[in-house]
Parts: sequence; structure tokens; C-alpha cells
Amino acid sequence: MTETLTIKTTKTEHSRFAETDFANLPFGKVFTDHMFVADYEDGVWKNLELVPYGPIEMSPAISALHYGQAIFEGLKAYRQPNGDVSVFRADKNFARFNKSATRMAMPTIPEEVFMQGLEALINLDKNWVPDAEDYALYIRPVMFATDPYMGVRPSATYKFVILTTPTGPYFSKPLKVKIESHFTRGADGGVGAAKTAGNYALSMFPTAAAQAEGYDQLIWTDSKEHLYVEESGAANLVFVMDGKVVTPEVRETILDGVTRDTVLTLAKSLGYEVEERRISIQEVLENIENGRLTEAFAVGTAATITQIAEIGYEGKLYTLTDPATRTVSVAIAKKLNDIRFGAAADEFGWNW
Ligand code: PMP
Repeated sequence: MTETLTIKTTKTEHSRFAETDFANLPFGKVFTDHMFVADYEDGVWKNLELVPYGPIEMSPAISALHYGQAIFEGLKAYRQPNGDVSVFRADKNFARFNKSATRMAMPTIPEEVFMQGLEALINLDKNWVPDAEDYALYIRPVMFATDPYMGVRPSATYKFVILTTPTGPYFSKPLKVKIESHFTRGADGGVGAAKTAGNYALSMFPTAAAQAEGYDQLIWTDSKEHLYVEESGAANLVFVMDGKVVTPEVRETILDGVTRDTVLTLAKSLGYEVEERRISIQEVLENIENGRLTEAFAVGTAATITQIAEIGYEGKLYTLTDPATRTVSVAIAKKLNDIRFGAAADEFGWNW
């Protein structure tokens, strides 16, 4: 049996709950009253605490700021019909967090620290979990290097924090995305499969350039030849081609998305054939033009399932089927939502 850890709790004296407008929740801006914090020192995780959400004092020399040893996760908790709160597939996010940690030469975190910290925080701030369709509590665990030392080597100390933020739908309309044929997100041998800060930093300039051209997001392609599609923004990519659910196979350049895995599992359970393989830009564009590609969508915890309406490549815009006519992604999204919000049986054991 796992031991129950001691978590010191300091409650806020000024809850912001009453003054929060739950009908208007921009993504990631409103934090709940508390956060969970822990420190890594001398090879162990210690100082497990729930404290009021707020600034953390630190040296400007901490190595996370200079050399980017920083990783994070994103998962969600959903309000159930009986008022309980359920966290979706937290075990997958925990496993990926430690995978990212290992790739970035950071210490892994024990399962009990991650899970008990999460549980204690959600219990304390349970009233913040929204009770409305498509709303959830977004959970952001983050770990960063805290040695105040400018030598380039793995830090010996780290801080682990869990933040929670109530959130509504992330994208409100179908996307216009651009296939990126110059900039690279993940290279072979690189860190694309890790959820590490630098991957998001490097995406900002190319994404902003595409947004200046009128696109919502990028589709990243392979770093070697820019011939294969990989993922889109902070989401994985899924297509329906010839009636099959097709997605780029997971490689070391792609984040192994929890939603991706969930969508593929649900697609199979709904009777669709699923293919995980390399998908060339040429195949996508040809199949849009000849009508064999009937659906394209981005899948992620924040994005959920977001339809892609238009794809741009080298100056040409390709218009896909009307998102309102799509059936496969809609059936998968419905089943996914029914499970998350407790409206359908949790047949895969995903709710905790
Ligand atoms: N790719 C990237 C680069 C992401 O940041 C995310 C969001 N975590 C995803 C894919 C989707 O992953 P998940 O379904 O686990 O949220």
C-alpha cells in the first residue's frame, strides 16, 4: 500500500472565488485559491505544501531561466452529475511527466507526491471545478530547475508546483492551419516528445508569422525534409481518409498525446479502422482534392477535438469538407465527452 504523505496546508485568507466570473473564463488566466508545491533537494522530494496561489521568491540565476530545464503537464478535472469531481487519465500525464523529466536530465517525481498533491489540491479547491457543458478545471503540474548557478549542468535542486485554472472551450471555431515547410518543432534525436518549455518557446515565432498571414495555427512537419505532417500547435493531428481514422505515428519528434490515445481507443470501440503511420503532405493535399479526406481535426487536452476547416501550403489554400457535415470526429467527441462528464459508463477506467 502507498503511504499517505504529510502535506502542510496554509489556506488563503482572501478567497477569489466569489469575485470570479465563471461565464467568462479566458484560458489559463484565472487561478484557483491554492497551489501545491514541493522541493527537490539532496536527492529527495520534501516540503510538500498547499499554499495560497501567488508569487514564488527565487534567484534570477536559477538555471531554469537560463538553460531551460523546465517541464510541465496539462490535464483536466470534470464535474460529474452527482457533484463529484473526476480527473481524466491522470496516470498517463504522470507517466509522461517523468518521461519528460528523464529526457531533460531532471529527477523523476514519485507517484505518491504527484497524485496525492493533486488530490489534496483538488479537494481543497473543489468548488472551483466548473459545472457547465464544455467547462473543466485545467491542471498544470510544472517542474523547474532552481540552482542559482550559471554553470551548464543539470541542476541539483528543483521545484514542483501544481496550478489549477477553471476553463471553458479553448478554440471556439474550426481552424485555418498552415503547413510549416521551413521551421522545425522537433528534430530526430531532439526533445519533441518531451513536454518541455523550449518546445513552446521555439514555436512562437513561426506561429506568430502564420497568424500574421491569417492562420490560426501551424501544422509542423518532419525536420529532415518537411515532407510529412507531424502535429498541430499544442495538439495531435487526426484525419479521416477512406473512412479510416489515420494519424501520424508517435516518434521522438511528436508528443505522445493522451487525447490522441483516447481518440484512437474510442475510434476502435466505435468500429472504425485506425492507422498510425507516417502521413505525407502530398497524401493530405491530394486526398482533400479528390474527396477521400473527409475530416481533419486537432486533439489535445486544452483543444479537446477541434475541427480543421482550411489548410494552407506554400501559398495555396485548401478548403476541407464543411465541419458541420462531419460524423466520425463528432461521434468520437460525443463519446469522449460523455465519459469525461460521467454521462456514459467509464468502460476503460479513465476517470479517477
Ligand atoms: N502536442 C503538443 C505539442 C502538445 O503540447 C499537446 C498538449 N499537451 C498535445 C500534442 C496533446 O497532448 P494531450 O492530448 O496529452 O493534451
